[in-house]
Amino acid sequence: MALMVQAIRGMNDLLPEDTSVWQQVENVLRSTLSGYGYSEVRMPIVEKTNLFCRAIGEVTDVVEKEMYSFEDRSGDHLSLRPEGTAGCVRSCLEHNLVYNQEQRLWYMGPMFRHERPQKGRYRQFHQTGVEVFGLDGPDIDAELIALTYNIWKKFGIENELRLELNSLGSAQERAAYKLDLVKFLEAHFEELDEDSKRRTHTNPLRVLDTKDQTVQKLLEQAPKLSDYFGEETKAHFEGLRNFLDKLGIKYVLNDRLVRGLDYYNLTVFEWVTTALGAQGTVCGGGRYDSLVEQLGGAPTKAVGFGLGMERLILLLTTLGKIKPKASVDVYVVGSGDGCELRMLEVSQIIREQLAEVKVMTHCGGGNFKKQFKKADKFGARVAVIIGESELANNTVTIKNMMDKDSEQKEYTTDEAISVIRENLG
Ligand code: ATP
Ligand code: MG
Repeated sequence: MALMVQAIRGMNDLLPEDTSVWQQVENVLRSTLSGYGYSEVRMPIVEKTNLFCRAIGEVTDVVEKEMYSFEDRSGDHLSLRPEGTAGCVRSCLEHNLVYNQEQRLWYMGPMFRHERPQKGRYRQFHQTGVEVFGLDGPDIDAELIALTYNIWKKFGIENELRLELNSLGSAQERAAYKLDLVKFLEAHFEELDEDSKRRTHTNPLRVLDTKDQTVQKLLEQAPKLSDYFGEETKAHFEGLRNFLDKLGIKYVLNDRLVRGLDYYNLTVFEWVTTALGAQGTVCGGGRYDSLVEQLGGAPTKAVGFGLGMERLILLLTTLGKIKPKASVDVYVVGSGDGCELRMLEVSQIIREQLAEVKVMTHCGGGNFKKQFKKADKFGARVAVIIGESELANNTVTIKNMMDKDSEQKEYTTDEAISVIRENLG
């Protein structure tokens, strides 16, 4: 039978095997973030379109070509969020969370971009985002980078990701630089690819991260942004580099790293892997000290990052660093008149006594052979058996599924609890 309606291209279902891995990753992220004292916020997935236009910038890939925008039934112009920072700032302003105070926040959830779906690039994808408000020093920038580094360490992938680092200077320094960069680009206009030509006058900094090899070569002679830095920018960047050196976090300087969104200044960074092909950036972030004011708030320093969950999970599974977990520890089987009720009751007693243990009750009858097959299928390490004798004596029999030759024995329910605990280790 042909399926009439299929999922939207680039929007994926996560099936039980996937969610088992996702939950493990989410748990590590949540516990790391709360271990740093960060608090969770949850914003709507839909916002007014002009929030993104104003925050991200009209001449960015995201706003120009990637947003899912629509008019709702009241004629309001809305968009599915392509990223979380804009909505997070909006929310903080609306609820007065950042005026004269410091906030360290995180969120986790789906983002939407109309891109060409491929490995590591989807139309619905998920980010864990972190945003810190009210702190201006390089110490907090270093904390954010260290936080991500410690996440990689927890998964054992710290050597698989390269930290790329750059400073974008202040708005004034960038403005002065842009004038000279545009002059340079105009002088070499005919050598530019189409995208770079277009960007020369709309968003010249973006030319720096062109994928076109000829243009890349040409840019080696272009003016360098760092030559336009004043003392403050230099001190901030040196401060950050010093912290990273002392914390033992290696990085490579990449003066072509400008990031896709308009709002960044000073620190920008990306964690990149070579193990995923073209979609190698797992996490990217930086400082965006002007965004809060740009969205109508009082001037507020801000820094954050977005971590692509699909890419992190792809990396972890590619490297064999994570596996789906068995959904069941204990499988309760039975046979005989009235066994079903006993099975439900015994299962519940085990769950109440052993809070962490996952207990599944076999349903639907059938012979023991078939029931044990199910126990194996769900990865159960212990089977609890209720047959005629157990029903009569109000006992249970325990079988260690990890060691099929071991003897199975009959116990009272109380004894059974400790035996199960021992068997599960
Ligand atoms: P890219 O250069 O790969 O398009 P980006 O600069 O657009 O990335 P950001 O806006 O910085 O990405 O988003 C932060 C992170 O979210 C990225 O580093 C990446 O891991 C992830 N990400 C971005 N777009 C997608 C997508 N379409 N599908 C899956 N993950 C994505
Ligand atoms: Mg992109």
